Amino acid sequence: MRALASMRGISKSFGGAPVLDGVDFDVFPGEVHVLAGENGAGKSTLIKILAGAYSDYRGTIELDGRRVRPVSPLEAKRLGIAVIHQELSLVPPMSVAENLLLGSPLVRAGFVRARAQRAGASAALAEVGLNLDLDGAVEDLPISSRQLLEIAKAVRLEARVIVMDEPSSALNAQDAELLFSIIARLKATGRGIVYITHRMEEIQRLADRVTVLRDGRMVGSREAARMPERELVALMVGREVDDRFPRHGSAPGSVALRVEGFSVRGADRSARPLVDAVSLSVRRGEILGLGGLQDSGASQLLLGIFGGLPGRASGRLEVEGRELSVRRPRDAIDAGLALLSNDRKATGLVLSQSVTANICAASLGRLSTWGWRNPAREAGLAARIGASLRLKAASLDMEAESLSGGNQQKAAIGKWLAADPRILLLDEPTRGIDVGAKHDIYQLMNEWTARGIAILLITSEMPELLAMSDRILVMHRGRITSELSRDEASAERVLSAAMGKVEAAEAAAEGKVRRC
Ligand code: ADP
Ligand code: MG
Repeated sequence: MRALASMRGISKSFGGAPVLDGVDFDVFPGEVHVLAGENGAGKSTLIKILAGAYSDYRGTIELDGRRVRPVSPLEAKRLGIAVIHQELSLVPPMSVAENLLLGSPLVRAGFVRARAQRAGASAALAEVGLNLDLDGAVEDLPISSRQLLEIAKAVRLEARVIVMDEPSSALNAQDAELLFSIIARLKATGRGIVYITHRMEEIQRLADRVTVLRDGRMVGSREAARMPERELVALMVGREVDDRFPRHGSAPGSVALRVEGFSVRGADRSARPLVDAVSLSVRRGEILGLGGLQDSGASQLLLGIFGGLPGRASGRLEVEGRELSVRRPRDAIDAGLALLSNDRKATGLVLSQSVTANICAASLGRLSTWGWRNPAREAGLAARIGASLRLKAASLDMEAESLSGGNQQKAAIGKWLAADPRILLLDEPTRGIDVGAKHDIYQLMNEWTARGIAILLITSEMPELLAMSDRILVMHRGRITSELSRDEASAERVLSAAMGKVEAAEAAAEGKVRRC
C-alpha cells in the first residue's frame, strides 16, 4: 500500500539550533499513527512542516507518491492535509455553519451558494456524528464541542491526512469517547490520522503504529502491538523509568490549612453553588488529592481559597491554626499559599517576558531593596529555581513563550516556588506535559512534602491521583462525597464517589443522606 503522506530526511533548525535531524515519517490510509515524544522533541515542528508552516527545511515530502512542497497552510489544505492544533482556529462570534465554511472552496468571489453550503455543513457534522445547531454561535459552545467541530471542519475540507495535536486534553470522558468513535469512522473511510498524545491509555487504545521522537531524532517506530508501555516510556525519555509514580509518603505534621463550610456561588446568583459547604484540612508534608469529574467544583474550591473569586466565596480558612481572611490573591500569597491554576495560559506566565522575569514575578518585594530591582539577585534566584526544577531552556533570558509546554509548566511552578510557599494548591500540574517532565514534577512533590510543604492536588488522571495522594477527597457537584485513605482508595471507589454515590457509612455518620 502506498503512503498517503511520506516525509523523508526532514531536518530543520531555528536560528542555527537543530530541532529536527533526518526524520522519516509517514501515514498510510486507514491508520492512526501516534507521534510521541517529550516536550521539545520536535513533534509540532514536524507537523507544521507537513502543514506548510515552514519552508526552510531539508528533506522531501510526498503525497500519494507525488513530490510536493507545501509553502503555506492554505496550500497544504488544498493538498488534503488538515491540522487541528491545540489552539483552535475557530472564530467564536461566528456561527457553526460559517465556521465550517471558512476556507471552503464553495465560497467564490462573493457568489455564495447558501443552500449547497448549508447542506455541506450539515453533512460534515453528520459525518462526525456531532449534533449541533448550524446557526448557533461557536462562542456559546463548550470547548469540547468546539474541538469536535474543528474535526468536522477538516472532514468538510476533504482532508485525507488529519493531524490532531493532543485533541483530548480539553475533553471529558464522554466527549473523548465521541472523539474516538469519530476517529474510528475516519479510519474506516481510508483517511490517515496522525495523533499526538501523552496519554498512555489513548496510545494503547487508538494507535496502529507509534513513532517516537527524541531531541529531534526518530528513535523508534513500530506497530503499536509491539510497543509495550515500558519500552515506549524508555524511548521517550531515553532512560529506563522504573517507577511512573514515585510517591515516598512522609509522616504528616500539624494541620497547615483548615477549611470549614467553604462555599463558592456561581457567577449567576440563582445558579446552584459551585462549591457547597466543603470542610477539609491538609497537614504539613501531606498530599491531599481531590478527585472528581468535570465540574466537581474542585478547581473553584482551590481558586476560592486563593482569593481568586472575590465576592463569591465564603467560609472559614485557617492557616497553621490562625484564622485568615482572604479577599484577594495577595492575602493568600502573604499567608504562604500558592496556586498553580489548571489553565496554563492564565497561570500568570507572561509569555512575552523572560523566564527569569516570570520566575521572580511573585517575589519582587523580597528581591528588591527599597523598591529598586536587583537584576543580579533575580538572575541568581531564577538560576537556582530553574536548576532545582530541571527546567530546560537555552537561556533563562529568553521569552517564556519559546519554552516547550513542559518547561512552561515548570516555569509557572518556579514562579510560586520562588515565593517560598508553605501550602501548594496544584490544579492539574501535569496536564498535557510529557512523561519525563511529569516524572520530574512527581519527584519535586516528594521533595516539597519532605520539607513540610502541604499540597492540595487536583488531577484528572486516575493513576496519578491514586499513586501520589496520601489521602483522597472525592467531590461531586460541589460536595465531598467520599474520603479515602491511601490504602482504601481504588479507581472504582473514586469513580463511583465522583459520580455522586455518597459513601454510606460516612453519610450515615453525618446523618445527611440526600436522595436525588
Ligand atoms: P514538541 O512539539 O515535540 O514539544 P516543538 O516542535 O514545539 O516540540 O519544539 C522543538 C524545539 O524547537 C524546542 O526546543 C523548541 O523550543 C524549538 N522551537 C519550536 N518552535 C520554535 C520557534 N518558532 N523558534 C525557535 N525555536 C523553536
Ligand atoms: Mg508540541
